[in-house]
Amino acid sequence: KPSFFEQVQGAPADVIFALTSSYKADSHTQKVNLGVGAYRTEEGKPWVLPIVKKAKHLLVENEELDHEYLPILGLETFRKAAVKLILGYNSKAIAEGRVGAAQCISGTGAVYAGAHFLSKHYPIKGAACYISKPTWANHRAIFEGVGMQVLEYPYWDPATKGLDLKGMLGTMQSAPNGSIFLIHPCAHNPTGVDPTNDQWRQIADVMEAKGHFPFFDCAYQGFASGNLDKDAYSVRYFVDRGFEMFIAQSFSKNFGLYSERAGNLTVVARSVEVKNRIESQIAKAQRAVISNPPAYGSRIVSVVLNNKQYYQEWEQNLSTMANRIIDMRNVLYEELVKLGTPGTWNHIVDQIGMFSFTGLTAPQVKVLKEKYHVYLTDNGRISMAGLNSKNVKYFAQAIDFVVRNH
Ligand code: PLP
Repeated sequence: KPSFFEQVQGAPADVIFALTSSYKADSHTQKVNLGVGAYRTEEGKPWVLPIVKKAKHLLVENEELDHEYLPILGLETFRKAAVKLILGYNSKAIAEGRVGAAQCISGTGAVYAGAHFLSKHYPIKGAACYISKPTWANHRAIFEGVGMQVLEYPYWDPATKGLDLKGMLGTMQSAPNGSIFLIHPCAHNPTGVDPTNDQWRQIADVMEAKGHFPFFDCAYQGFASGNLDKDAYSVRYFVDRGFEMFIAQSFSKNFGLYSERAGNLTVVARSVEVKNRIESQIAKAQRAVISNPPAYGSRIVSVVLNNKQYYQEWEQNLSTMANRIIDMRNVLYEELVKLGTPGTWNHIVDQIGMFSFTGLTAPQVKVLKEKYHVYLTDNGRISMAGLNSKNVKYFAQAIDFVVRNH
């Protein structure tokens, strides 16, 4: 008897997860994984943040904690703290009661919840969502998945290995009024290139004049500069300018809680009433997809964010991660300069956050993988955290070889 599903075509494997599998299957002793955006220690190991360990102990000792369902929109103390973290402890918008929140399945789930809401309730029918070129691959998948049209705005300028501000502003200008713009507030993935404060002002000017809707996807707060406030600058600036907006927040990277799926969708609305209605619609949709979010990760984040001393320790842990990554940028740059590798490499130190967009081409990436057992995505993005003092020289030599020969 034939299957009901004979007509189903196989889907391609996810590029990043496939890269990790190939890396794991490789038995070469000098193999290096620069694919997945997950922090690694100097020893190349995952890091459970010391403050997360403390919070976990505290949770275990609290025998009162049960395993009842959370509310549909998640843990109240987590949602409140997440909103304050991104908008600031003195946020006027929060004081005015027009900021809502939904705990979601990490950053991905928060982008999805926002996209799903926009697909149903955005007032301009057929409005497109513009994503940066390039961006995190899931942005297109999520917005197309909820049936929205996805278009791109220029972002990366290969000539300067920096921001194509002119191209970005040009597309914002020519897009139909009231379009949706998906924006990385800090540590842009994959380029590591962020606008300066003055460039954010220019972006806000155009978006305001055109009545565009900003949707920030914040996966790296605290990771970019090591400073939580600095990394939230663009979001807070847009709030001060009076924009309504969505902000997806992930706690995967800044808490090292990748598998716990702790995330939040912050909603900044014009009024308390509108905020309440948006939250109610997100709750209705969330009920039908996950019913209610998981508790463990959000409890850990909540314990830390709501205790002053824990919060300070968390900031120290964040600095440890951010600084190690910045160190690796410097060392890689110095090694390439020492080798006299053709081309300019200062973008490695100028870029920010977890990734560097090296400018290496797909054929060069192929040789890196096959000859040197170094794993990275075909677009030349490297996860800086995969480097350490034991493999950075080897990696620089590998780059030197492929740049000279391919
Ligand atoms: N958004 C961006 C830009 C990211 O880079 C990531 C993770 O790589 C995410 C969202 C979401 O990650 P998670 O769902 O693990 O929180």
